[in-house]
Amino acid sequence: MADLPDLYLIADMAPDLVAALEQRFTVHRGDPPATTRAICGGGSSVVDAALIERLPALEIIAINGVGYDGVDLDAAKARGIRVTNTPDVLTDDVADLAIGLWLAVERRIAANDTIVRGGGWNVPLARRASGRKIGIFGLGRIGQAIARRAESFGGDVLYTARSEKPVAWPFVPDIAALADVCDVLILAAPGGADTREIVDAAVLKKLGPGGVLINVARGSLVDQLALVAALVSGDIAGAGIDVFADEPEVPDLLKTMSQVVLSPHQGSATVETRGAMAALVLANLDAHLAGKPLPSAVL
Ligand code: NAP
Repeated sequence: MADLPDLYLIADMAPDLVAALEQRFTVHRGDPPATTRAICGGGSSVVDAALIERLPALEIIAINGVGYDGVDLDAAKARGIRVTNTPDVLTDDVADLAIGLWLAVERRIAANDTIVRGGGWNVPLARRASGRKIGIFGLGRIGQAIARRAESFGGDVLYTARSEKPVAWPFVPDIAALADVCDVLILAAPGGADTREIVDAAVLKKLGPGGVLINVARGSLVDQLALVAALVSGDIAGAGIDVFADEPEVPDLLKTMSQVVLSPHQGSATVETRGAMAALVLANLDAHLAGKPLPSAVL
């Protein structure tokens, strides 16, 4: 049997996916050999120019996630290296989680669960979720799925993105203006240089003392120190956070706050979606090895 091509695995993957990769490749987890033809990573993986340069035989970077902000696309493009991700199959789950985090914050679901588990019963009053003004930052696949869910709660839905979309929801020119008019700011845009810490102290101040921030995008979108400060001072009312600046590190102060719901970057973490993502990773790698068009190519 011919030698299998070399693949560098740079993130933890489900055992089924690893087994499927091992049927197709010699999988390396430590030091990748110069003969490495493929990298497989997750949405938070870093594939920078230095790594790409170290691997002269590299042909494809397959990301098991939709976000690829850790991949140096310019360096990959310069070498003609293909980059794939797993869009669409995770959209509904991430949107469901955004709505779940929002409801959990407004209705104190996690905080009151803690009270009941501690033997308590009389709990502080929560705040109504229905009828609130929802602002969505990034109206792509996930942002639109969030908007469709959010409008069923009877409030207004508004959004901002790089460009206005042909949708019924009103477009607001930038995130500061969006934070100013909405009660709930939900982040659903990619990470990267353009969005780094776009939610800063000024944006949080505009969101205001009744405002809630929900982040299912990337931790890099938020100035995390400013967020903690805004929650401490009451500049905003609460937050639901699935993604953090320095995962898996979570600021200790956030863990003490009952107005905050913490989530371990689990937007796509359902049995169904992780299975579909794994199938798409393999479909991309198989298509590449067979010289066929890639099902979901970024590059
Ligand atoms: P998408 O379809 O590409 O949508 C991205 C949206 O963000 C687009 O509307 C885009 O606007 C907007 N956008 C991009 N850069 C922007 C900027 N600088 N300012 C304002 N808006 C900007 O992506 P998606 O599939 O919805 O995924 C969105 C992100 O969710 C991913 O990149 C990933 O980081 C995150 N995610 C998180 C999880 C999780 O587990 N929590 C899971 C999956 C994905 P235009 O259309 O105008 O360009």
